[in-house]
Amino acid sequence: MEKIVQALRMEREKPFCAYIYDLPKLRQHVNQLVTTLPSSCRLFYAIKANSDETLMKTLAPIVHGFEVASLGEIEKVRAVDQKIPILFGGPGKTQEEIEGAIHYGVTLLHVESLHELQLVNHIASQKGTTVSILLRVNLRHSVPNAQLKMAGVPTQFGIDEVEVPQAIALAKKLPNVKLLGFHFHAMSNNGDSKAHAAFVDHCYELAKRWGKEWDIDISYVNVGGGIGINYQNIDEQFDWDDFMKSLHRVLEKHKDANWQTLFECGRYITSSCGYYAAEVLDIKQNHGRYFCVLRGGSHHLRLPAAWKQSHPFTIVPIEKWSYPFMRPEVNESEITVAGELCTPNDILARDQFVSRVRVGDILLFSYAGAYGWAISHHDFLSHPHPEHLYVESDSIGHSDAPKFVEI
Ligand SMILES: *Cc1c(COP(=O)(O)O)cnc(C)c1O
Repeated sequence: MEKIVQALRMEREKPFCAYIYDLPKLRQHVNQLVTTLPSSCRLFYAIKANSDETLMKTLAPIVHGFEVASLGEIEKVRAVDQKIPILFGGPGKTQEEIEGAIHYGVTLLHVESLHELQLVNHIASQKGTTVSILLRVNLRHSVPNAQLKMAGVPTQFGIDEVEVPQAIALAKKLPNVKLLGFHFHAMSNNGDSKAHAAFVDHCYELAKRWGKEWDIDISYVNVGGGIGINYQNIDEQFDWDDFMKSLHRVLEKHKDANWQTLFECGRYITSSCGYYAAEVLDIKQNHGRYFCVLRGGSHHLRLPAAWKQSHPFTIVPIEKWSYPFMRPEVNESEITVAGELCTPNDILARDQFVSRVRVGDILLFSYAGAYGWAISHHDFLSHPHPEHLYVESDSIGHSDAPKFVEI
């Protein structure tokens, strides 16, 4: 990636700022996930992590489907693929969204409350159809200690575990919904493979108990996404192989269950294929600390500011220097990496040791493919947007022009 960035910089006049996606890397990573999952499991991509069209087109032939949380996301999926299965979740679904879900042939709708259950049934009956649903459960216990928790604590998500029997009873009475199972997405950025397998086990226990007590023929148990990225120590990532071993043991323990298990991962699918590259515009020392100011910042990559953490980066040396005065540089020191916004919150990394960085070098942030551009406030301060570039084998493609440039 370093050589690619150097070559791209050579072709440009202005300071460099780009998201770069490595498509062969994405394909290889996701193929490996899909082929190592047990045969009763299905992998969906939660597109809110990054709904970039080129990434979705790359993923569509590999994953089993897409998970969405709005009508806008349903339309993005259908623009890429007319047929691919869609799972639709998220709190506060409107009548228009539920009608859209029916119109676009959503496979499963994840119902988030008793009111929503009534609303889905009402709309389906008006349209003379039946909607297949999973009930989204907000668990009381046994949610791994991940960075963000959507369940196991009071949140706006899902139906409280203690109210699930009531929801099942209602769903069974309503003629235009078909209850096919349960949905348990409960956390984000969990790094512990054993805890993740124990979570799946807990979901199966509950699904089994409710299935038996209420005589439901369960077709699907959706255990959500939530598999994490270690941004602090990039050499120690989620142990997928160990998770597969543990998952096989859990499936063996529940081999009387004949449902399909659905995973709907976001971060773990697209994070590693994405890079954010931003050129150093200035280096200064204030109050005894070194600051590197970038052409870019948290308006492009909000994740480190949102989570108050340092995002991993490497320095791509750029030899070109076109001014007749000395090039600022810092050696063997700790730097704080700031963006170009006029707020002290625009920080991408703090107190990171570097052996050398100069004005004009490029900082290359890795693991920027999920919750990067997608969650950022792009137009705050009205700086130009970054380029969006796609590495395809030995060439680079631009999002707005189909031509691929050899490098
Ligand atoms: C965000 C979300 C996901 C994906 O979460 P990751 O942590 O990115 O894997 C899956 N399901 C639901 C319901 C979500 O809201």
